[in-house]
Amino acid sequence: KKVLIVGGVAGGASAAARLRRLDEHAEIIIFEKGPYISFANCGLPYYIGGTIADRDRLLVQTPKGMADRFRIDVRTKSEVIAINPDNRTVQVQSHERGQYEESYDELILSPGARPIIPDLPGKDNPLIYTVRSIPDIDRIKEQMNSDNNASAIVIGGGFIGVEMAENLKEAGLDVTLVEGNGQLLTPFDPELAASLAQEMEQHGVKLLFSQRVQGFQSREQGIGVELADGRVLAADLVILAIGVAPDTSFLQHSGVSLGARGHIMVNEALESSVPHIYAVGDAIEVTDYIHGTKTAIPLAGPANKQGRIVADRIAGLHSTYKGTQGTSIIKVFGMTGASTGSNEKTLKRLGIDYRTVIVHPGSHASYYPGSSAITLKLLFTPEGKILGAQAVGYDGVDKRIDDIAVAIHFGGHISDLAELELSYAPPYSSAKDPVNMAGYAAE
Ligand code: FAD
Repeated sequence: KKVLIVGGVAGGASAAARLRRLDEHAEIIIFEKGPYISFANCGLPYYIGGTIADRDRLLVQTPKGMADRFRIDVRTKSEVIAINPDNRTVQVQSHERGQYEESYDELILSPGARPIIPDLPGKDNPLIYTVRSIPDIDRIKEQMNSDNNASAIVIGGGFIGVEMAENLKEAGLDVTLVEGNGQLLTPFDPELAASLAQEMEQHGVKLLFSQRVQGFQSREQGIGVELADGRVLAADLVILAIGVAPDTSFLQHSGVSLGARGHIMVNEALESSVPHIYAVGDAIEVTDYIHGTKTAIPLAGPANKQGRIVADRIAGLHSTYKGTQGTSIIKVFGMTGASTGSNEKTLKRLGIDYRTVIVHPGSHASYYPGSSAITLKLLFTPEGKILGAQAVGYDGVDKRIDDIAVAIHFGGHISDLAELELSYAPPYSSAKDPVNMAGYAAE
């Protein structure tokens, strides 16, 4: 069997490795348009900040490693520019070999999502950077290391924008973050996002809300960012992080059905509309695990799981992908914000009746040193089915949201949260864990 994979990072690399484990004989070829495969995209901001000091640590797997360990033929700097399902071939534009065709029995698409670049005056200014790949951060690092590099403007207060703002600040730059909406980090409801914003300001990041960027001005030194209110902010570099779009333009004439925003439409088996073509990762439309509606959630966990499932299917196993719950987490200086399931905005949009409670328990027993408050918000139906949860705090936020993520996965109710028996000793929790407290408050 000959299996081609488009995209060699999260979804593509996991599909390849799993397939090799299940099938010793399959011929597996990965096409990756960039120079690297299997790199730690989630680690990129921390390399900018210096927490990850060694660039090589970002390269989780190399083409040689994939070849030696898994007998996978990895072709970097090789972009798939078109696919032809009628004769089951792909068209490859290779840096070394020029254009050629490759045939497949099964094709896996994991092209991911690309940063959105708005069509604004001056958008081609070389001091505007996006963050997706190793070459992207190499360019940013190079600029940061050049002379006169004291300030950065980050446009967009999503996960990547906030992580970049924090890390540029940690690297010693003067940082301003400009956000078009009234809050950062839309998976959080405004009151929780406000605590994370406050943490950023306390660490010296300037935040501008409800400010649209209208264009960019080149300067003799640095770059100017024009705001809708007429102000022009000056900086030495700009990070553009206003969101991502599926990297699927090469599929336009392929017959593979795409959703309104360009996501590949798949079924539970992760098959696209065209036989023998599967798709995974940031480029696909998924089912919302809680509501069964269609959505798109670009996260690494789902991409990896989907890659594994597609390999199972190709090897004849019957795994299915049941949907994405959107469990996510972010470090904001000393704080952590995490969320799972739906927030108020989503529930309102879907017209679902819901209740909320917010509790502020200690991260662990207050008499044991180092305890700090967690703000934990729970969203549930009037009958008590859990729909979502969000938390912010300095310690223990991750495990509380993960507990509730598990409860949601199993269709849990608020009474389950009250009943859960969770690990306790004073350094870690309280006899009534914050998750139990949220359950009590909701009952
Ligand atoms: P990718 O991992 O992006 O891989 C797609 C690859 O396909 C790319 O390398 C691309 O070059 C290649 N490609 C595209 N089109 C073609 C083509 N036509 N031919 C050949 N190759 C092609 N998620 C989390 O859950 N937690 C985090 O903390 C987190 N942090 C992140 C931080 C940053 C800076 C970024 C950019 C992303 C982060 N993510 C995080 C998101 C996570 O990285 C993605 O959800 C995940 O990588 C998606 O996997 P994928 O396989 O769909 O796409």
